[in-house]
Amino acid sequence: MRKMKTVAIIGGGVSGLVAGGLLSRNGIRVRLFEANPKLGGCCANTYMGGYTFHDGAQYLAFPGVLVHVFGRLGLDHASLLPIRKIIANQTVTLPNGSVVTFGDGLEVTLSQNGMVKNGPLQKELDLLLKKWAPVFRLFADDILLHPFSMARLATKSWRHLSKFRGTVAGEITRLFSDEAVRAAMAGILLYTGKPPQTTPVTSILGLVAMLCEGFYLPVGGMGKIPEALSQAIKRYGGEIHLNSKVNQIVIKEGRVYGLEIVGQGCVEADAVISTASGMATFNFLLDAGAVPVKLHRKAQKAQLSHKAMVVQFGLSNQIDVSSHSHSILPMMPEQEKVFLPVEDELAWPVYSVPTVTAPEMAPQGGSVVEMFPPTRQSMPADDWTPEQEERITQAAMRALARLHKMEIVVKRTLSPKHFQNQLHLYHGAAYGLSLTSDPRAYFPHQTPISGLYLAGQTTYPGYGVSSAAMSGILAAEAMVMDDR
Ligand SMILES: Cc1cc2nc3c(=O)[nH]c(=O)nc-3n(C[C@H](O)[C@H](O)[C@H](O)COP(=O)(O)OP(=O)(O)OC[C@H]3O[C@@H](n4cnc5c(N)ncnc54)[C@H](O)[C@@H]3O)c2cc1C
Repeated sequence: MRKMKTVAIIGGGVSGLVAGGLLSRNGIRVRLFEANPKLGGCCANTYMGGYTFHDGAQYLAFPGVLVHVFGRLGLDHASLLPIRKIIANQTVTLPNGSVVTFGDGLEVTLSQNGMVKNGPLQKELDLLLKKWAPVFRLFADDILLHPFSMARLATKSWRHLSKFRGTVAGEITRLFSDEAVRAAMAGILLYTGKPPQTTPVTSILGLVAMLCEGFYLPVGGMGKIPEALSQAIKRYGGEIHLNSKVNQIVIKEGRVYGLEIVGQGCVEADAVISTASGMATFNFLLDAGAVPVKLHRKAQKAQLSHKAMVVQFGLSNQIDVSSHSHSILPMMPEQEKVFLPVEDELAWPVYSVPTVTAPEMAPQGGSVVEMFPPTRQSMPADDWTPEQEERITQAAMRALARLHKMEIVVKRTLSPKHFQNQLHLYHGAAYGLSLTSDPRAYFPHQTPISGLYLAGQTTYPGYGVSSAAMSGILAAEAMVMDDR
């Protein structure tokens, strides 16, 4: 007999949908509570005036991990989620006039004044992959699919341990001879929110993932991923409650008793999976007295990721670009400058044009541009005002208008305050934990509080759509094991 008959899930992002899908498939009654009026969390779409905008995630990395998740839920990935490979990945423009374009796989080109000057680039790329592709495959095909343990990591990756020392800047300098190529390679990894000089070398796997396996975009945008994943919970009879914000996890006699939902009272459950971050779960959703000292300390001291800002435009014209992502960057030693907050001029524009890969995201003949201006990291998310948001939106518009013809039909600005208040990200931190944290900083799927489990991007295997989805499998499995 199962002890757990009803499981309540906090959050309807990819991790909650996956955990709920797997538990429903195992015959457990699932009740999922999502604060927002729609599913998907940071991987949803928003539709405005015929344009599709991303609420957070821009592209899919580690597609094999997501395919594995679909399989575990009994869903047919190919029919439920048509995806396209991004075959024109990036164009990086540098102050010395060089342009580096990343096409499909190893199609990387360096040009100066319109002349291709690849030199030893292809050989250098081969060396990068010779060294790092085996590590990437080990992570993508094995490490990310299993619960984390240092022992497992050491056993599986002992051959590679010597590679894991140093920084991205050091490794890129060793591998590439041209300073423009170095800047472009390092630029691909600036999404970590840190310059290459302080980013651990293991982050280079983000670049290797793009070169080896590619990045992808579902037809219709990233929001199609949670839409497809929600099929499992629906098919196996789970309940989804939207507009249902949980304000407390109720503990009685040392174990989970249920959830207190705003305006709905207490809902009883035999167990709870929280996909609100580890920090929000232990700092906000539980009474301090119920949280074991070690976890309390971990949640208080967690190193948070950067806060993000996104400015989005729906254009009636087709923007004159051929790549999915674009950036104008300083040379690698100066890339710290990319993070300097915008006053009125945006010196280093970084933006993507998802309609290059998914034209259906705009009405015919139009396009969508999503821009990522830097933000003042020391400013609390609460302090953002509509005036400050508008000032940055205007700076983003001016920067883009200097580069492209822009016939703007709709615009949308997502500040750290939006990410905190609408998407419930802890202090507005885009990825929850800092991307330079090691796996031990992540929160456990199985907590010391009886009946309480965690999933989501602050649990292993961490941030990113595929990894967060996989964390839902690992949390549900931990719960099912305990139930036997
Ligand atoms: C700006 C930005 C850009 C990104 N870009 C990429 C990218 O290009 N590629 C990539 O792979 N990843 C990207 N990510 C990360 C990726 O989106 C996330 O790692 C992933 O979507 C997290 O899924 P999740 O289920 O863990 O959490 P979320 O998506 O945050 O889902 C959690 C859900 O729980 C709900 N919730 C929280 N608290 C409560 C509560 N108390 N009661 C009820 N509901 C609650 C929230 O409303 C939310 O819907 C990006 C993220 C951001 C913010």
